[in-house]
Amino acid sequence: MTTAVPSIRRLDQTVVNRIAAGEIIHRPANALKELIENSLDAGSTNIQVLVKDGGLKLLQIQDNGCGIRREDMAIVCERFTTSKIKSFDDLGSIATYGFRGEALASISHVAHVTITTKTEDSKCAFRASYSDGKLIPQKPGMSADPKPTAGNNGTQITAEDLFYNVPSRRKALKNPSDEYNRIIDVVTRYAIHNSGVSFSCKKQAANAADINTSTNNSIIDNIRLLYGSTVASELLLVEKEFADLEFKMKAYITNANYHVKKLTMLLFINRKYLYLWYRAVESSMLKKMIENVYITLLPKGSHPFIYLSLEINPQNVDVNVHPTKREVHFLNEDTLVEAIADAMQERLAGANDSRTFYTQI
Ligand code: ADP
Ligand code: MG
Repeated sequence: MTTAVPSIRRLDQTVVNRIAAGEIIHRPANALKELIENSLDAGSTNIQVLVKDGGLKLLQIQDNGCGIRREDMAIVCERFTTSKIKSFDDLGSIATYGFRGEALASISHVAHVTITTKTEDSKCAFRASYSDGKLIPQKPGMSADPKPTAGNNGTQITAEDLFYNVPSRRKALKNPSDEYNRIIDVVTRYAIHNSGVSFSCKKQAANAADINTSTNNSIIDNIRLLYGSTVASELLLVEKEFADLEFKMKAYITNANYHVKKLTMLLFINRKYLYLWYRAVESSMLKKMIENVYITLLPKGSHPFIYLSLEINPQNVDVNVHPTKREVHFLNEDTLVEAIADAMQERLAGANDSRTFYTQI
């Protein structure tokens, strides 16, 4: 008996794009992370997030950055359109979060996107709606062209009905309050790291914001505001430059007085990568290193709070990682991780001595 050989067909481009989008945008918090990074890349000093139903109904971000030019609005949501690199060589010296031009495209494949934006030299703002990477009419019968409207300098992006066209994904995200917590987590981490930028995050119907930082806050102020004064009052600053390894570190780590059941780690590399530490990074060298550093200091099964920001020569970092990757690799990883561990250990030992001294008096 012969079996029928199935014929191979080329997938429709919209299907391809929707599948690709699903790999980058898994849930509202992912989408928001991309939008926040875009706002930061645009030089914003104020970023306001508004959320409805855990971001599934509405995810809106308003910034005061450079805006998008009217003439770029037609292609801004297409895949691989970016203002951040021009050639492959630029990848070696990239200083922005984004560079692949995939985020807005992906979001527009799985949500209804509207962008209202104004550059400083434009007399008015422009608003446009997008679907599947392309401009669409904002109302039936209208042309798809961006429409002039009133607005401040900067950009507002709304993503509505996320995954309206991906029923399986939609079904998997049935708990809006869980999604909202993840959103809060993302905003919290970016707010702490970007202490010169004010952030707010609010549910649409709520009177008060759940996160509200101001531009004058220091990193410690923001840690106190967002993680509480118990953590903030036990932090040690570890700041060191390793010229031979071409990297700098700045960390706020808790001393031996502080320990909790769950490790909180905020890790940033060249401002660029956000690690979501609560899952999937069990094997990471840095996490193991942290555990080793604290093993003799803290009671068994308890953990510190760590904020760690690394600035590594961009040429030594593998930037070509997929946007969803939580891990990033760099040259001389072992040596680098060891150097960080030593610096932390040294600082903790110093702090410990003074504590022993203090209790002896
Ligand atoms: P990437 O960030 O990788 O360039 P995105 O799809 O995230 O790709 O964004 C595409 C382009 O849209 C960016 O390169 C930038 O020029 C523009 N853009 C997106 N968001 C903003 C924003 N909030 N303010 C100004 N420009 C933006
Ligand atoms: Mg981007």
